Amino acid sequence: MSEHNTWIDLRSDTVTQPSAAMRAAMAAAEVGDDVYGDDPAVNRLQDFAADLFGYPAGMFAPSGTQTNLIALMTHCGRGDEYLVGQEAHTYKYEGGGAAVLGSIQPQPIANQPDGSIALADIEGYIKPDDMHFARTRLLALENTIGGRVLGQDYLLAATSLAHAKGLATHLDGARVCNAAVRNGVSLREAVKGFDTVSVCLSKGLGAPVGSVLLGPKDFIEQGKRWRKMLGGGMRQAGVIAAAAQHALQHNVQRLAEDHENAFELARGLGEIEELNVTPPQTNIFWMDVPAAACEPLRQFLAQQGIRATVGPRMRLVTHLDISRADALRTVAAFKSFFHDWRA
Ligand SMILES: *Cc1c(COP(=O)(O)O)cnc(C)c1O
Repeated sequence: MSEHNTWIDLRSDTVTQPSAAMRAAMAAAEVGDDVYGDDPAVNRLQDFAADLFGYPAGMFAPSGTQTNLIALMTHCGRGDEYLVGQEAHTYKYEGGGAAVLGSIQPQPIANQPDGSIALADIEGYIKPDDMHFARTRLLALENTIGGRVLGQDYLLAATSLAHAKGLATHLDGARVCNAAVRNGVSLREAVKGFDTVSVCLSKGLGAPVGSVLLGPKDFIEQGKRWRKMLGGGMRQAGVIAAAAQHALQHNVQRLAEDHENAFELARGLGEIEELNVTPPQTNIFWMDVPAAACEPLRQFLAQQGIRATVGPRMRLVTHLDISRADALRTVAAFKSFFHDWRA
């Protein structure tokens, strides 16, 4: 085993290593130049993902930041705006790309404690047709958001409202497979109501690289122009597309195990009096750690072979490379640390 695999890495679900079976699929991929549309493995992945989620077409791109930006730039033009949560990735964690590269104004709106945007806020923030205002074109939601799952009823209500007001709808579905598994619905059901969706293959699904953008055929064709301009035109990308396809075929339903491991981890950590754990809904959860404990805890965990982003408000993430035994060992390490810290 490589040194990598001996770490328990709870920083993110992006840290997974491709499995032997995934690497075999990559090695066997038949490839071509995808800028010419010639890569059979990329074409297969795009068709497979589109069908799986119920869209006419799909586009493979190097990252979710790029698929989201392509979606925003295809839905909105210069001087348009999109409605988005204050905590959303497409607003807060993508470097302001929509504004910087797309000349698109975000209209951020406070997220409710459950991660949703209140329907009254969606309606209230849509600007009248008046030359003083940017043109409100799009509602962008995220599911899961910070590990929280939006309800199916809410998603249908929010997207119906947006459509009734003449807006398009985009889902940042980086972890929409986690949402579907948690809500017990099909992938098609989970994205119902959204004109377009971006799905990350390199998060909990365990592929090394890539996201897909799914939507109508003409939308995806227009989006490919932006993808090229943004530097996302790839050549023999079938090598990574094959890994992504393997991930979609084998690693969706097993996300339930990641959720169970997160529940187990949260249960155990919740027994430690110094920690205030917010119970997980999926594979990501948060807890409060006494500020004075953070630095020694960081050092202790590193000695124990546990990687975590330690801080007063700490995020923990389970994934494909975290087993039940890893979760239990992590709980034991935290208990040992706080036992000594208390003394
Ligand atoms: C990770 C993530 C993305 C895309 O991230 P990349 O690192 O660019 O692939 C988009 N939205 C959410 C919610 C994410 O977690």
